Amino acid sequence: MAKTIHDRLVEALTAAGEKTVPNSRTQKYTVMTRASGGFWFIGRAGALRTGQNATSSIPSDGMKRRLLASEDAAMKKAAPKKDVQKYPLLRCPQCGYEYRPTMNAFRTTDKTKCIGRDAIEDGSVSKMHSFNHPFVVVDEE
Ligand SMILES: [Zn+2]
Repeated sequence: MAKTIHDRLVEALTAAGEKTVPNSRTQKYTVMTRASGGFWFIGRAGALRTGQNATSSIPSDGMKRRLLASEDAAMKKAAPKKDVQKYPLLRCPQCGYEYRPTMNAFRTTDKTKCIGRDAIEDGSVSKMHSFNHPFVVVDEE
């Protein structure tokens, strides 16, 4: 079951070191400590408010965005390495040079003229070298 925004906010605040205030759960809010003063009120539907009490609390949408964003970042960081997006390995069928692009926009076509491996080794076309082969995608499976 997918976590609700409420649950994600509580987890993100917990990860940030805040504590759920016991016996103060209202029908509407989970109440948590706030290091800089007052309390956090997390609504059942995912509202995040801050203040001394639920009645006088004010929305904290900026903090809510930051909490959800930091949680997303933490999840991405924890993701297994094989899930990290990588660009396909390319190989020049003429000279055998292999190159893995670092950006999605990288393209050469079968009309691109191969400059050969000598140019790689002598460094004469170092900078734009990778744009000068008629690359085909290598099947890495
Ligand atoms: Zn080549």
